[in-house]
Amino acid sequence: MMQPLVVRRIDVASLPEAARSHLALETVGDGLGRDIFVPSIVVRGRHPGPILGITAVVHGNELNGLPAIHRLLERLDPETLTGAVVAVPVVNVPGYHRNERCFSDGSDLNRIFPGKEGGTNGEVFASRFLDRAIRGLDVLIDLHTASFGRVNSLYVRADLRDERAREMANRLYPQILLHNRGVDGTLRDAAMDLGVASITVEIGNPQSIQDSLVWWTVQGLLRVMSFLGMIAESDLTTHKPPWETIQCGRSYWIYTDRGGVLEVFPELATRVHAGDRIAQVRDVYGRVIRDYFAPEDGVVIGKSTNPVNQTGSRILHLGIEGAPQSAPVAPDA
Ligand SMILES: [Zn+2]
Repeated sequence: MMQPLVVRRIDVASLPEAARSHLALETVGDGLGRDIFVPSIVVRGRHPGPILGITAVVHGNELNGLPAIHRLLERLDPETLTGAVVAVPVVNVPGYHRNERCFSDGSDLNRIFPGKEGGTNGEVFASRFLDRAIRGLDVLIDLHTASFGRVNSLYVRADLRDERAREMANRLYPQILLHNRGVDGTLRDAAMDLGVASITVEIGNPQSIQDSLVWWTVQGLLRVMSFLGMIAESDLTTHKPPWETIQCGRSYWIYTDRGGVLEVFPELATRVHAGDRIAQVRDVYGRVIRDYFAPEDGVVIGKSTNPVNQTGSRILHLGIEGAPQSAPVAPDA
């Protein structure tokens, strides 16, 4: 078995050409004085070209990106690859072990990028990960899913006013393409600030592997690589997904204003019309205490599946079709 090479920084140029390298990236130490190594895989092609980063499991319980990386890399031949892929199948190692979204110190990593030296445990980790793994990339695709208690369609969040991000996002053929300029604190936003064109892909549901969505994600990643000139177009399958991408210029979450047992009705990636009943809340005795209706026409990007609803819980993530708009912005999931 190939032992990973311990590195302090992912430096593609220092790794062998036409080869796959397994790395263990030093980041921060735990309470026993051991390093938390972030596993990374670099496939460096024979020919120089773009460096594509693919990250997964920034949130420790969002796992569909992990098999997507494994299955994508199985498809690549370093002899014919142009450029390099830097893949990080599990960014948030402590969260992954605990089946939890957050880092060891309870911080949400995707709210604290770019992090800082001299900060909290999570902030130092974010800062070092950004500096050591992301800074050297040309483009980045960050793979997420819905959070615990919610489900997502296969959708892409990208600043559609950025040409490179828009071109990548289009080639993923997601169910929904959501313009989102990036909220402060996300890895995507911090990477964009470093000049690394980046998009976020939301792949379905937490804490599971959804074969079909993973397969379509891999097809999309291959199309992005073809667009970037990293693989030949002839390496692509000709399959078109069984959906037409719906572009949304903005989106927002709808929240409850009553506690109780919540049921959300519309299916993912379907359209709802203004006035459609989208959810109902009952008290624990079974009495209906509140109905919720779509405030305007839109498409269901994500929704709650957890019936336990305290006042202020999320109901549904509604996308509004159209050209990019600047506000409001729903946070990255
Ligand atoms: Zn996430």
